Amino acid sequence: MNEKALKARELKGEDLNSFIDAKGISTICLLCGNDGVMIMSHGPDKPLQLFAMPLVHPDAEPGDTAETAGFICSNCGHVTTFAASLIVEWKYGEPPNDG
Ligand SMILES: [Zn+2]
Repeated sequence: MNEKALKARELKGEDLNSFIDAKGISTICLLCGNDGVMIMSHGPDKPLQLFAMPLVHPDAEPGDTAETAGFICSNCGHVTTFAASLIVEWKYGEPPNDG
């Protein structure tokens, strides 16, 4: 597991909240217009819930995944997700991976 994936496991709910504020991300639901979202964690100081999507392109190694974290619209349940690696880069000040 790479360093960013390991650091992603240390992210807390408050980190995604701060990421949303820092990036100017709207929390108005794109689907229903509701202004109210729930960060997908069990609390600001609790681990952020991470979701892994298997990568299946020809160059992927077995077990390769893209990991995401996100929030849920409190009205319609629409899920908005973000690449966990970018939240890690933002939090720890690492440059974007351009490779
Ligand atoms: Zn909604």
